[in-house]
Amino acid sequence: MNERIPLSIPFLNGKESVYVQDCFETNFVSTAGPYVNKFEKHMADFLGVDDTVAVMNGTSGIHLSLIDANVGYDDEVLAPNLTFIAPLNAIRYQGAQPILIDSSWKTLGMCPEKLRDFLENNTERTKEGLKNKKTSRIIKAVIPMHTLGNCVDMDPLIALAKEFELTVIEDASESLGANYKGRPSGTLGDYGCFSFNGNKIITSGGGGLVLAKASGAIKKIRHLSTTAKTDSLNFVHDEVGFNYRMVNVLAAIGLAQAEQLNSFIEIKKQNFYKYKELLTNVKGGSLFTPDENLGTNHWFYGFILDENLASYKNDIIKELISMGIEVRPIWELMEYLAPYRDCDKGDLTISREIQKRTINIPCSVNLTNEEIEKVSMGLKEVLSRYL
Ligand SMILES: *Cc1c(COP(=O)(O)O)cnc(C)c1O
Repeated sequence: MNERIPLSIPFLNGKESVYVQDCFETNFVSTAGPYVNKFEKHMADFLGVDDTVAVMNGTSGIHLSLIDANVGYDDEVLAPNLTFIAPLNAIRYQGAQPILIDSSWKTLGMCPEKLRDFLENNTERTKEGLKNKKTSRIIKAVIPMHTLGNCVDMDPLIALAKEFELTVIEDASESLGANYKGRPSGTLGDYGCFSFNGNKIITSGGGGLVLAKASGAIKKIRHLSTTAKTDSLNFVHDEVGFNYRMVNVLAAIGLAQAEQLNSFIEIKKQNFYKYKELLTNVKGGSLFTPDENLGTNHWFYGFILDENLASYKNDIIKELISMGIEVRPIWELMEYLAPYRDCDKGDLTISREIQKRTINIPCSVNLTNEEIEKVSMGLKEVLSRYL
């Protein structure tokens, strides 16, 4: 048995190699090919939507959604302060500017009340659209992100978006398979984006998926993802497109993974409750427990340090890593990163607190009971030294 317990690694025990071998045998390894269509269809059925577009990664899916939502140069988009950087980069690819919004302790994701505060206090309705009074830019969209697989409280957020006429682009990269009040995450907004990067609940090596509500939007996004080609014989393109469509080999891996998704979610859930039991009486912190009513796929397990231990977070992490337990802090906040330091923002108190206190603990699908015990014992032991 491997002594190091990794944070999150893929589990490739389905038909991945069979499907990839098939790509080699049929010589369909690159752009287009039957697995891309099969994967898109499989995901559409899983999510209960008509159609999906498979793309090269989650970031490119968010980028295409922003383009289709008509977000362009000097527009603004409301985005989480606590997130992986991808959605903010996609906003910048369009020459638009993020506005940073706080998280809620309930979901770790965007807080609808904080969003309301920002919109009510900082914007005015004008003929050109919703204007940010401070920057004079037009706010076009909001990107809620379902942090660690836990759904943002979407009903109040969508109601606000309606009220202020904002497009909702769900970054569901982490929450595939989570159901918010019975509805799949990623299908709640105007657009939904997923990622199949190596650490996600299922992986295609690298990849993403886009959904869209408006009729014609998916067709447009697929068109943009394939260099906006209208005539493949003569290489005619009707606008500036992107080379963003998923390739067949990756879709083959993705399809084999997608076939196992329900079992992965079940395992993640069981492992979560094993951890929860072992960590109930631990002193110094507690496992973040998602609100099952709001939905979660239990992708990542966040361990929240008590306030008085927050300043030791990095030491605690280093000690655990030296014991062979790969834990990681949650992302640095967007407000502190060089490209986004100057962004407009609302009150960000809660995301700062969450960031200071959150450690992600091993969560791979193939975790053994022994490993879960070892992580829990390790955490207890290390924390006890700081109490
Ligand atoms: C993984 C992830 C993405 C997409 O990442 P890619 O590497 O481009 O697939 C986007 N947003 C969040 C929050 C993510 O965790």
